[in-house]
Amino acid sequence: MIMKFRFLGGADTVGRMGMTMADEEKTILVEYGMSPTKPPEYPIVPPRIDHLLLTHCHLDHCGMVPAICARDNCEVFTTPLSAEISEIMLYDSLKIAIAEGYNEPYTSDDVERTMDLVVPFTFKDTIELGKTDVTLHSAGHIPGAAMFEFKRDTSTLYTGDLHTADQKLVLGAKPVKCENLIIEGTYGGRNHPPRDESIKAFIAKIDEVIDRGGTVIVPCFAVGRTQEIMLVLKDLGYEMWVDGMGRSVTGLFLNYPEYLRDPRAMRAARKTFREVKNASMRKHASKGQIIVTTGGMLDGGPVLEYLRLFKDNPKNAILLVGYQAEDTNGRLLVETGSIVLDGVMVKVECEVRKFDFSAHAGQDEIVEFAKKCKPENIVLMHSETREMFLEDLQDYNVILPELGKEFELDV
Ligand SMILES: [Zn+2]
Ligand SMILES: [Zn+2]
Repeated sequence: MIMKFRFLGGADTVGRMGMTMADEEKTILVEYGMSPTKPPEYPIVPPRIDHLLLTHCHLDHCGMVPAICARDNCEVFTTPLSAEISEIMLYDSLKIAIAEGYNEPYTSDDVERTMDLVVPFTFKDTIELGKTDVTLHSAGHIPGAAMFEFKRDTSTLYTGDLHTADQKLVLGAKPVKCENLIIEGTYGGRNHPPRDESIKAFIAKIDEVIDRGGTVIVPCFAVGRTQEIMLVLKDLGYEMWVDGMGRSVTGLFLNYPEYLRDPRAMRAARKTFREVKNASMRKHASKGQIIVTTGGMLDGGPVLEYLRLFKDNPKNAILLVGYQAEDTNGRLLVETGSIVLDGVMVKVECEVRKFDFSAHAGQDEIVEFAKKCKPENIVLMHSETREMFLEDLQDYNVILPELGKEFELDV
């Protein structure tokens, strides 16, 4: 059976994901995100949608879901954990749009309606959408993140964001045998150092900074990275604080222990960190030795308060553990040693280091995973460097879809 596929965004970019798959009966939308750039960027608007499938709660995948659900009143299939965190992310993104003076692409009523339309399903569950059966598998990216296996005459796997190596928070994804593999390629042309090495170097740097009397600031994304770093640091015995949205997300993760690799370790990590529950507690946190705080790209959130306090003393250190997108304060810091605080460019005198704790598979991991799925066709998406895979995948029919252009797969 032939189905028509179309990327509405996120084919040759990392951000604003959206893909439709359609037969004469139904149109399924897989993810509908946004790029939180300035101004934000959105995917192409699709025709009427019958069902929406969401892999996980990062804004580049879920950020525009309410615009479609409010329009078409379609159900959203996702894990209950992804649904709960998406809700927080969507309200937060709406708040940012209002604060920055951008058009709101949907209302808070639309978010509420979307949440009412969520049909929770979980790993190994199968649902029927018309003539297509959909089974959920763990994507190994963050807790609750799913891959979709579509079964009809043959099978098609859509990975969403994927990691194949084990992290402390979640185990790596396992290959699923399929005919068509639609796979992300964020790290085309690049590989990660082994996670153990990153952890060792990260902890050695922390010991060094604290030995010289400095304070360590670890800016983190709220969902996933904050908790991975808490797990890495939990046994160090330093005075450690956690601040920002990452703190509440940890609580949500613990409400769904089935999505965590080791819920006991997560509970233990949470106990070893002191929590900044209101603004006045920040002055206590500032006397601590390590502060893990939202936001990961230094563009907002409590991290700015800490930067203000700690940036001038060379004994202190800012340890970056996440991706720094273009036009963010984090990228500016890495490239120029300065950041923008209250609209003014200021020099950062403390030490700045980067460590690789990526939640995406590297080039070799993607290739290995793809080969183990034994597909005929491989569709590469979510990547600015897709050509880097062509040589390694030359035995397969590789498709590099273009934005808005239809292609067909036998499904
Ligand atoms: Zn993601
Ligand atoms: Zn993504």
